[in-house]
Amino acid sequence: MLRRNQKGAAVQNNPHTTLITPDAPVAANTHGGRAKCLQRLVRLEMPVPRTVALSFDAVHRIAEGEIPDLTAILEQFDSAALLCVRPSSEDPDWGGPGAVLNIGMNDARYVDLSDTMGAEAAAALYLRFVQSYAVHVARLDADVFDDIEADGSEGLRQSLRAYEDETDEAFPQDRGEQLIAVLRSMARAWDGTSARLLRQAKGAPADAGLGLVIQEMIPGVGQGECGSGVLQLVDITTGMPQITGRYLSQSQGRDALGAGVSALFLEKDPRGLSLEEVAPKAFADLKAQAALMREKLREEMQVEFVIENGHVHILDGVRVQRSARAAMRIAVRLAEDEIIPPQEAVMRVDPHALNELLHRQVHPEARRDVLTTGIGASPGASTGRIVFTAAEAQASAARGEACILVRRETSPEDVRGMHAAVAVLTEKGGMTSHAAVIGRGLGLPCIVGASEMRFQTKKKILSAPDGRVFKTGDILTIDGSSGQVLAGQPAMLEATLDDCFQTLMGWADAERDIEIRANADTPADAQTARNFQAQGIGLCRTEHMFFDPGRLIVMREMIFAQTSSGRAAVLERLLPMQREDFAQLFRIMEGQPVCIRLFDPPLHEFLPTTRSGQRELAEALDLPVSDVERRVDAMSEYNPMLGMRGVRLGVTVPEIYDMQARAIFEATLEASKNGAPVVPEVMIPLVSAKREVELVKSRIDSVAAAVAAEQGQEFEYRLGVMVETPRACLRAEEIAPHTAFLSFGTNDLTQMTYGLSRDDAGRFMSAYVRQGVFTEDPFHVLDPDGVGELLKLGAERGRAAQPDVTLSVCGEHGGNPESIAICRDLGFDYVSCSPFRVPVARLAAAQLAISSRLGG
Ligand code: PEP
Ligand code: MG
Repeated sequence: MLRRNQKGAAVQNNPHTTLITPDAPVAANTHGGRAKCLQRLVRLEMPVPRTVALSFDAVHRIAEGEIPDLTAILEQFDSAALLCVRPSSEDPDWGGPGAVLNIGMNDARYVDLSDTMGAEAAAALYLRFVQSYAVHVARLDADVFDDIEADGSEGLRQSLRAYEDETDEAFPQDRGEQLIAVLRSMARAWDGTSARLLRQAKGAPADAGLGLVIQEMIPGVGQGECGSGVLQLVDITTGMPQITGRYLSQSQGRDALGAGVSALFLEKDPRGLSLEEVAPKAFADLKAQAALMREKLREEMQVEFVIENGHVHILDGVRVQRSARAAMRIAVRLAEDEIIPPQEAVMRVDPHALNELLHRQVHPEARRDVLTTGIGASPGASTGRIVFTAAEAQASAARGEACILVRRETSPEDVRGMHAAVAVLTEKGGMTSHAAVIGRGLGLPCIVGASEMRFQTKKKILSAPDGRVFKTGDILTIDGSSGQVLAGQPAMLEATLDDCFQTLMGWADAERDIEIRANADTPADAQTARNFQAQGIGLCRTEHMFFDPGRLIVMREMIFAQTSSGRAAVLERLLPMQREDFAQLFRIMEGQPVCIRLFDPPLHEFLPTTRSGQRELAEALDLPVSDVERRVDAMSEYNPMLGMRGVRLGVTVPEIYDMQARAIFEATLEASKNGAPVVPEVMIPLVSAKREVELVKSRIDSVAAAVAAEQGQEFEYRLGVMVETPRACLRAEEIAPHTAFLSFGTNDLTQMTYGLSRDDAGRFMSAYVRQGVFTEDPFHVLDPDGVGELLKLGAERGRAAQPDVTLSVCGEHGGNPESIAICRDLGFDYVSCSPFRVPVARLAAAQLAISSRLGG
């Protein structure tokens, strides 16, 4: 317990070795987080044992061989007190050398303490010190003590003998000598290579300092109720209020946590005896101290305590380790209890970690049988039986059996299989490849680029790098959050979208200053977008609507039509289907903006790739197979992503855009009849030249005029350009005057800026990131330098020509917190991302607004 005494002047004048008092010069960045926390507890007048803090500087000098002013340190403690030394790094998560307890035990103290606390307890204290000194200070192997089975005084005697045999020296008896040796060994351990690498992996800078705290021991063994334990007020997995921890009579340090059944519960518990029953007063006291710590330190803390003959001593408070969902609940409860303001609660939750709440996860404590790690392209985890084709996935879903679709890569033909599967695994691809984009859109766990596995999809065999072979029907788990492919079925943690989540999101929205929309292609996506309170649809990729079996054949017929009028006739049949698609989206979004992108992919994606598919098509179209083959061949391109797609189709095969524009406008009038008025947004993809916009715009304007005239009703619409080629960014000044908005498609823009295929980059991306060529996968985190500069140029030039132009990003980066920061800095009006990333984006945007208000 802290006793005010006058003898500490020498120490107090030296900030590098200072007694922790309420006003001692102790700071986390000079003495470490533990020292600072102890000072806070001392200020709260908690029963903290007397403690001296050594600064980073002092510890560094000790490591270099300097001997600290021992007299000044020891003067702070009773001459009979045992001491312990514990690490105090700046951020407690960076760790540090293990604590050494019971410094000061020697033969004489052993005799004294045997009289006061009993021989067995005294021997236990001495034994613990001898063994930890031997291992941590004298650097003996722990197995030196392996053969010692006796405990009590005999175990002690044998341990001392083993120490002497190994070191050829008697066990040191002088407390000062013991202390210096412990300090030096801990100081040097911090400088060791493995300790350095370990903490750097946790984000510590190379020159991170170590402080040490020397604390008077409250032994935890002796007469009356003595022992040690830890207590916290929340469950670390859920964050719900729940007193958790353990207590072990006649123990020290964290013994209670390793003690299994012999440890006591804290609160009354049907599973066994509790501290509440054994020492009710100490328990009540402890609970009150923990609540005070929570309130004053504004954090959920784990309390490390010792009970000495019924009295509680607080040795330390450590921030409670927590899962992502616990972190959110803890932050919200602290704000609801008015301990922190709501803005601070918003700042405390890591937006990336929200993914853990929005999706099922592998339970943090489950055993993981990891087969390989690919790119975690869509978060969440699912278990299922593997299937190798979309058709098998659909059959499996029809049987009510969860399945994982395993493909080398996916194509639009697999979308229905993806809908039927609970997860997707591909060999190829990166963050913006087909499987990744669709997976995120569906909220489906997805791993792409698992190139260390062997995918023999024709033979229906999947082989792991360790040689294990999986066939159709075998069970795998896909953890799309970590990118791990797991064998079998580990325990799962369900998604939670509870009131706590809604509360936090409400606080976030009140702060946010950039809008968040969702990319949604189907009514189901749109409903998810609404549920996550997206402020509209920023990108509806209309091509996905054509893969429905009933439409695919009509689509193929259209592609095979020889003349413009032939094409228009077939498109007439698609028109009502598209109109209903759009009307549904408008109805679900209830007057919020819906941005529909005109047809984008190369047409050959809709043609069958297999011989049997081509035969079926020939039959359906009543054409010779050779004709079909010839047409399919003729349409193939060397580089389809840079070929006949996007606006290039709009210019050369304009009937498709005409049909889509008509469907959009007719749906607009229909949906506006009974619901909120709809102002559709029509977006032209892959633009690189002003003339493309002029040509498409004039046709769309005339379709709008025709629909208005036919239905005798005017309506508004906004026409915009998708900026996804570098040239469109550079020429934004001449494009902007023709458009209401510019929406940056950063997937294609990244692909074209780097000359890096979005579908193939997965093969070398991890090597590139590992070797520091790219700091991050640029398809995941927007490249601030190259692609970011194009965004900046595009925005500036677009605005220069048309100050009111709406600016946005609708590539996958729209859901990535770091990328949202770039968009916000550039003054964009909104970002649009997969529906399941909307909450992540809402929170990240709120944090950016709060920190910029605070000048951060
Ligand atoms: C883009 O290129 O950024 C985009 C949103 O379009 P898509 O992913 O459909 O090519
Ligand atoms: Mg694109």
